[in-house]
Amino acid sequence: MAYPIRTYDDLLNSIKSSGRAFDLEQIDRAYHMAKEAHKEQKRKSGEPYITHPVAAACILVELGMDTPCVVAGLLHDVVEDTDVTLEEIAKTFGVEIANLINGVTKLGKVPFSSREEQQAENIRKMLIAMSEDIRVIIIKLADRLHNMRTIEYMTPQKQRDKALENMEVYAPIADRLGIRAVKEELEDLSLRCLDPMGYQEIEHALELHRDERSDFIQKIKEQIQEKMLPVIPKAHLEGRVKSINGIYRKMFMQGRSIDQIYDVYAVRVIVDTVIDCYNALGIIHDLFHPIPNRFKDYISTPKPNLYQSLHTTVIGSEGIPFEVQIRTWDMHYTAEYGIAAHWKYKAGVTSADSLEEHLAWVRKILDNQTESDATDLVRTIKTDLSSDTVFVFTPKGEVISLPAGSTVIDFAYAIHSAVGNRMIGAKVDKRIVPIDYKIKTGEIVEVITAKEGSHGPSRDWLKIVRTSEARNKIRQWFKKERREENIEEGREELERELRRNGILVPQDELYDLLNPFVKRQNCADLEDIYAAVGYGGIQLWKIIHRVKEEYVKQKKAAEAVQNPEPPKIAEEKLNKASNGILVKGMGGECLTKLSRCCNPLPGDEIIGFVTRGFGVSVHKRSCSNVPRDIQESTEPERWIEVQWANQVKEQFKTTLEIVANHTTGVLMNVTQQLYNLRISVHSLNSRELKNGTDVIYATITIQGLEHLNAIISKLSNIEGIIRIKRS
Ligand code: MN
Repeated sequence: MAYPIRTYDDLLNSIKSSGRAFDLEQIDRAYHMAKEAHKEQKRKSGEPYITHPVAAACILVELGMDTPCVVAGLLHDVVEDTDVTLEEIAKTFGVEIANLINGVTKLGKVPFSSREEQQAENIRKMLIAMSEDIRVIIIKLADRLHNMRTIEYMTPQKQRDKALENMEVYAPIADRLGIRAVKEELEDLSLRCLDPMGYQEIEHALELHRDERSDFIQKIKEQIQEKMLPVIPKAHLEGRVKSINGIYRKMFMQGRSIDQIYDVYAVRVIVDTVIDCYNALGIIHDLFHPIPNRFKDYISTPKPNLYQSLHTTVIGSEGIPFEVQIRTWDMHYTAEYGIAAHWKYKAGVTSADSLEEHLAWVRKILDNQTESDATDLVRTIKTDLSSDTVFVFTPKGEVISLPAGSTVIDFAYAIHSAVGNRMIGAKVDKRIVPIDYKIKTGEIVEVITAKEGSHGPSRDWLKIVRTSEARNKIRQWFKKERREENIEEGREELERELRRNGILVPQDELYDLLNPFVKRQNCADLEDIYAAVGYGGIQLWKIIHRVKEEYVKQKKAAEAVQNPEPPKIAEEKLNKASNGILVKGMGGECLTKLSRCCNPLPGDEIIGFVTRGFGVSVHKRSCSNVPRDIQESTEPERWIEVQWANQVKEQFKTTLEIVANHTTGVLMNVTQQLYNLRISVHSLNSRELKNGTDVIYATITIQGLEHLNAIISKLSNIEGIIRIKRS
């Protein structure tokens, strides 16, 4: 993208075609002063230096700025770079222009630094300059924009520094001031430096369909015109394509391809009055099918930068969605030129207060600001100007862009799923950070990976990651890489649950019994079902009750037709189904199940309850469902003595309730510790309590009470943990 060099004649031409009055004599004197002062200097491109201030002045004319602004634009670098002094300028051009140039010079050439204090100082200077004369920042934006247009002559490092600074500071300020053209061009040019490939991909896609697109927009415009002109004769229509950065952000944030983005195409309807805006909206919605929840009324609720319009997205006759923006001319000038419209349309089109309204924002930020802590200011501004993308670097200097709020895990998966899957930690700007660290623009992120072997992601990461890309890749890993393990785990869990519920089915009938309840998982055989249980695709507690009902139904039906005695195979299983419980007077032959309410563990004092039809359910003696005094209870005869068999090979599920200080990393450390102890974790939830602590519920598999106590004692050593108990 080579921009033609703008000469002084070009400047004069654009002044002429603007149709506005300028003091040409003063502009001429400024040009000659600047040309003389810069005569020894060259741009990095090899051009004479004067081409730069002339180009900046052209941009200022196009934005609609006045004579003092254009003069200051021509002279904006002389005080900084040449022998010309402010006093001379004040003598020749007056105090107003000297102040503008002084303002731009003071903003000056503070080098970009990732150090917050320095950036803060920079931004504060800018805000103060803005509050004194907002034109200072508009000149700075024109300066910046021209420098970006010729950025290819800078070193790659400098290009990236400038681009980041634009994304973080200058483009948001342009946006805040409502100067759309400058904001979009700055962003597009910066994006081209930060992610050249991503930029080219979109540019290429847009180029490819250029003809189709203009045909499409033309057709839409004709359709609208036909219906609208009889009602609103002066309606003006134009079509446009979203900026590349705008498309990039949508593709990136929503993971869509360019064909799936609604507002790549936009049609703008400009009318005379607010009432006509709503009339036009009615006509558009009559003509095309509106997409629900895409209508926005920025007329009744303007954006903070005073932008006003009606937005709606509709589907065209060919099924292609497009956005329609409806506004008055007044709103249009504000939308395109923002604060600059104040000068461009001085004639009284814009409201007299709009300049003050824009400035109110700057003043408010400055008012809340104490001299002492400039870093706070940077945070305020960054939140206030918040952008939804962060740009970070790999150690080799490649740029990765991610949605704001992304963590180092998202970063790792954005590089490659293999990097994410082998990740064991991360460094940001050479310092080790926690795994849930949220990355910020400008940081250098390095992923630490395990050298060999299958470390693999943690299931916990699913709750930490911000991007769906990372989430999907983590799920994929659990589904694919761990199939053997999933099958093994799933088989154990399923068998245990079936036993507990007294469901005794031969292996070859199991698939037919379960499949109707897990249809969505598309399991072709029993092994698939095991695998799905293992990786969590099937959650047994959700289906086991219905499985049991079905089992009981089938069993009763079978018994009714056949032998009244249970089949032999079931009897054999019955003996094993004791759960390690001995029921007094019945040996191992009685069907028992461990009750869900208190999940007794070997070592617990227990008692049995004779259920109607499902054997003996075993409770902890201390369970709240067990009467304190059996003899006083309603059915004392149904409570029977039970005890643990000596040999317990079973595994048990129990849930721990862990209360911890609300600090990052506790959950991580708990998982890590459980992983180290080779404890299988069935579910892990945490939530914040009002008093600043977190409560974590971990359901784990254990071998018995002793084992459990050992686990609790290990976990208790983790920093930040207040107490742990069985829940
Ligand atoms: Mn400059």
